[in-house]
Amino acid sequence: MFQPLVNGVLRRVARHSRSKPFAMRNAAPLVSFTFDDVPASAYTNGAAILEQHGLRGTFYIAAGTLGQVEEHWRVIDREQVRALHDRGHEIGCHTFSHVGVDTLDARMLDEECRHNREVLREICAGLDVTNFCYPFGRVSLPRKLQLDDRFDSSRGVYEGINAGVVDLALLRVIELYDRTLTRDKLDRVLRETRARNGWLIFYSHDVAEPPSWIGVSPRLLRETIEAVQAENIRCLPIRDALSAIGFRRTTEAAAKFSARAASGPR
Ligand SMILES: [Zn+2]
Repeated sequence: MFQPLVNGVLRRVARHSRSKPFAMRNAAPLVSFTFDDVPASAYTNGAAILEQHGLRGTFYIAAGTLGQVEEHWRVIDREQVRALHDRGHEIGCHTFSHVGVDTLDARMLDEECRHNREVLREICAGLDVTNFCYPFGRVSLPRKLQLDDRFDSSRGVYEGINAGVVDLALLRVIELYDRTLTRDKLDRVLRETRARNGWLIFYSHDVAEPPSWIGVSPRLLRETIEAVQAENIRCLPIRDALSAIGFRRTTEAAAKFSARAASGPR
């Protein structure tokens, strides 16, 4: 009968304890643009706008939902995923069936990630899926610890600038939503990123006019990129930002990773 209480405590522990602490060693502040789920408009509008500015983003995909029509959007299809990869964007893992990891046991989470990676690698030859994002932002301590080993980083939905000693198992974000990102807030988070030599990760879903309540309009995406570029802050996908903050996968982890890659289908 204490289970709900225990679960609540575990969620708070998962949120506040750094299970993969890392001291950032970046020479200059950084910004990443990330998209979850991923609606087709994040490809047709979002990726196109990033590319017009010479940038690449990270797109966290749950391959089991590809092509589905959902409440607010149609999910990107296989051809569009391949095009994103071919054009240099990063493809990240968002589980296979877009499920909260706190509802899964260890074996189920492993299977979700394995299956997602397998399908994404069928679509994109040579793809290495090294970064994860929690569906619905939901975390639990045991699953967070399990993901630490499997991925270089995991991104959540808790607000903040990553700076100093960060938790690579729960990277912080700023919503790139028309509903919440005002010009004042944008200026403030860019100032903070510069002052703390931090890593600002924006996240959004659809890129449409009008956007959904968790999406961004093409206009605001452009304005945000232009504000970042006016500050001369580098924009990198998560995988490249990790290199820029000095993260190197350990030999042991890399060996496990290539063993997994070798055993997977091409
Ligand atoms: Zn999602």
